[in-house]
Amino acid sequence: MKNYDYLIVGAGLFGAVFAREATKMGKKCLVIDKRPNVAGNIYTEKQENINVHKYGAHIFHTSDKEVWDYMNQFCEFNNYINSPIANYKGELYNLPFNMNTFSKMWNIQTPAEAKAIIESQKAELNISEPKNLEEQGLSLVGKDIYEKLIKGYTQKQWGRPCTELPAFIIKRLPLRFTYDNNYFNDRYQGIPIGGYTAIIEKMLEGSDVKLSTDYFDFIKDNADIAEKIVFTGEIDKFYNYEFGPLEWRAVRFENETLDEENYQGVAVMNYTDAETPFTRIIEHKHFENSVSPKTIISKEYSSEWKLGDDPYYPINNDKNNELYQKYLERSKQDKNVIFGGRLGTYKYYDMDKVVRAALDTVKAELSK
Ligand code: FAD
Ligand code: UDP
Repeated sequence: MKNYDYLIVGAGLFGAVFAREATKMGKKCLVIDKRPNVAGNIYTEKQENINVHKYGAHIFHTSDKEVWDYMNQFCEFNNYINSPIANYKGELYNLPFNMNTFSKMWNIQTPAEAKAIIESQKAELNISEPKNLEEQGLSLVGKDIYEKLIKGYTQKQWGRPCTELPAFIIKRLPLRFTYDNNYFNDRYQGIPIGGYTAIIEKMLEGSDVKLSTDYFDFIKDNADIAEKIVFTGEIDKFYNYEFGPLEWRAVRFENETLDEENYQGVAVMNYTDAETPFTRIIEHKHFENSVSPKTIISKEYSSEWKLGDDPYYPINNDKNNELYQKYLERSKQDKNVIFGGRLGTYKYYDMDKVVRAALDTVKAELSK
């Protein structure tokens, strides 16, 4: 007799949505996580009256109305619009690439002037079909912006030259010829008032939760605990790296509490030169306009991942994608294990895509 219908490994967004929907349908779920807290990478913690995004800044944005409505059951979103600043050696530019950026870069005013400069810079390069991130960046915005705002940042972020990175990474960023600094094109955007952790706690109501519990230790003594496993950890680790390890980028955060009210005047400032060792500084209070005499900032350092480190960003180049396909094929033999989330499916997933995938997965599962 199994105690649970599902053992859900990972109390992050994917695991929590799955648990919530399964318990609603009368299923018994045990959710375990190796970390001492729920919420995975969207964990937020209140310090100095400021919700600190402990594993990196998270802005919720989506065009999927069903996902937006779903999330709004668990929290109220504020009207935050992400408008980061790029700092290139003390020169400040608006992001994403828009008329404010172009006007500062070239001292021009009209979209026609901006387009003409980009076209003339592109013409010199003669790129027909962009093969990598460098060619994609150059053909989108020309040489000046590529050199100052893309090249250094991207190479720090990914630890590889832009010529060795897939073009799709840069396609995440909007490019527009209007004076609009909204970093996202999505219909809905905001920060949950009170932070993300409370959302996950609500989703997990009705499930049993065990923290500081690593699956690989736990399963040794509890092999028969559940009918099925939902695994949101790394798929290659689940299979003991039998085809070799997938590669990831790791991120390290250096947090400082400062005795001043407003350090940089914006939530996100990207340092786009190659020399500054961190990629960006997050000033958390600006996400929710938190009132505090102090401020908390996080410097984000990107680094090469090695076995044993926390994985953050999948490196979705051809080599890794092919390796992931092998694990995916292998996983099809395990009828009682469902893989999900950014680690389980090796995807550079935003939160809304994770919620969508979890809702689709649980729906397919429960209709069996
Ligand atoms: P996770 O949150 O990582 O949850 C997986 C959980 O599984 C973790 O808690 C982990 O501890 C646990 N686990 C793993 N292995 C085991 C094991 N063996 N035993 C027990 N537990 C285990 N998305 C946006 O939409 N907007 C943003 O602004 C944004 N910013 C981001 C910034 C950074 C720096 C990063 C890295 C990502 C960002 N994302 C953003 C993406 C977002 O973080 C993810 O989409 C989302 O958190 C993924 O949820 P998940 O449940 O798949 O994974
Ligand atoms: N990027 C850049 N300059 C910037 C910001 C982003 O070149 O100032 C590029 C970089 O390659 C990055 C990609 O755009 O990896 C996607 O940026 P995004 O902000 O979406 O990354 P994330 O928030 O996921 O780290």
